[in-house]
Amino acid sequence: MSRRYTVIRGGRLLDGAGRNGDFADILIDGDTIRTIGPAGLAAPDDALVVDASDRLLIPGLVNAHTHGDVSFAKGLGDKWTLELLLNANPLTSERFRLEDKHLAAKLAAAEMVLGGCTACYDLFSEFPVPSADGLAAVGRAYAEIGIRAVVAPLMADRSFWQAIPGLIEAMPEALRARVGPATTDAADAAIESCRRALKEWRLDRDQVRLALAPTIPYHCAADFFRSCRRLADEYGVGIHSHLAESKVQAVVGRHKFGMSLARHLDSLGVIGPDFTAAHAVWVDADDIALLADRGATVAHNPTSNLRLGVGAAPVKAMLDAGLGVGVGTDAATCSDSLNMFEAMRLACYLSRIHSPDPAQWLGAEDALRLATEGSARALGFGDRIGQLAPGFKADVVFLDLGRIAYVPFNHAARQVVFQENGASVDSVMIGGAFVVRDGRPVSFDLAKLRAEVEQTMDRIRAETAESAALVKALEPVVSRFCVALSQEPFHVHRYVGEAPRAH
Ligand SMILES: [Zn+2]
Repeated sequence: MSRRYTVIRGGRLLDGAGRNGDFADILIDGDTIRTIGPAGLAAPDDALVVDASDRLLIPGLVNAHTHGDVSFAKGLGDKWTLELLLNANPLTSERFRLEDKHLAAKLAAAEMVLGGCTACYDLFSEFPVPSADGLAAVGRAYAEIGIRAVVAPLMADRSFWQAIPGLIEAMPEALRARVGPATTDAADAAIESCRRALKEWRLDRDQVRLALAPTIPYHCAADFFRSCRRLADEYGVGIHSHLAESKVQAVVGRHKFGMSLARHLDSLGVIGPDFTAAHAVWVDADDIALLADRGATVAHNPTSNLRLGVGAAPVKAMLDAGLGVGVGTDAATCSDSLNMFEAMRLACYLSRIHSPDPAQWLGAEDALRLATEGSARALGFGDRIGQLAPGFKADVVFLDLGRIAYVPFNHAARQVVFQENGASVDSVMIGGAFVVRDGRPVSFDLAKLRAEVEQTMDRIRAETAESAALVKALEPVVSRFCVALSQEPFHVHRYVGEAPRAH
């Protein structure tokens, strides 16, 4: 029998609104927080009582940017730039069957909930184009685990190799043929699949909803972006795109469009309050002002930026300009773990390489706010998740104060951001229901999930052996070409120690 009311008693709250480890009780009505008050808070007699003694309660962390389809590809590359990672696309989800898509999303969701993440923006890639069935399978995986998700099919109408002018021409003849042309009707097919998926979506949109993710501005024709905008307006869904993640992207964009990538997307009408820009590392003050004016949100992924060596995003400048910023982990192939505690900590640390003036740095409370409220806004869920407050969904993470990170317990926000690595996540509640309880998953069996993944990987490894040889052969060409591009003079500088060049 499920009860209408739940009351969480005896816990200490870190709510981003003044409580920093103070004792407080939470009354939950169905899936929503009704009231928060001092110990002994009045609750209906039949309310289910949850004991949170020795627990620190924080809002569920919200992952503003990830790619669930590559959750099988852990350990795929090492000294890879973003472009070498994109070159390796054939090794990730290209051989997926429908059930693999479901399983990959499930694995990503499992990792996230076990790490105290209660919602994510997943830019899931299907090859060669998204399918309504694939999106439904991914959505179902998230619903089964119990995490909230915005599932955005990653789309392009050309391959990575075709998207960078001159790259294919720089390849030896033998390789050129093998990177072949993409299907010419990719754009129409992708839009049609999304339209069908949006029309037929059966899941509760408060839990799992769709959005659109045209991947990288110059990987999609102008008309394709316009079609995405029309479809997003028609169904009231968000658009999420990678924006100036690497210097290569910024340079190519400037060559192709004669303006910044942000200006280009804005000229197509893409940027608005429902637009999330992933990364935004190589943006200038004008781009930041533009994104802020349009009410867009940036998904900042510090772990990924460091892993792929793309430089450090100017997050403080974004916040100073009034631009909304959320925090994401990015994917298993480029930030390795989907760990939001790690992402928060690195957001703080990375902010400190720009200036010796601490007024220009992010602090623990800033990082926590970005990883909850900021990310919730990126997902289009800003009015319902990301806060422990009346009227918000009861998405609550219980951290065990007996863990070493909290001995002694001095300052909740700082210890959560600077000491915590996810090891203290004891229980995770999403919409008033536990998905992790006393350190164990409630909605899935980890051993069974592992067995299914290993079995699937035996097949996928065998099927991708040939592609692996191609990817390896392409690596030196792609690397040489893209590193040369990134050495072109550009008016933005995002590498530490890089000498500003005249332009
Ligand atoms: Zn991404």
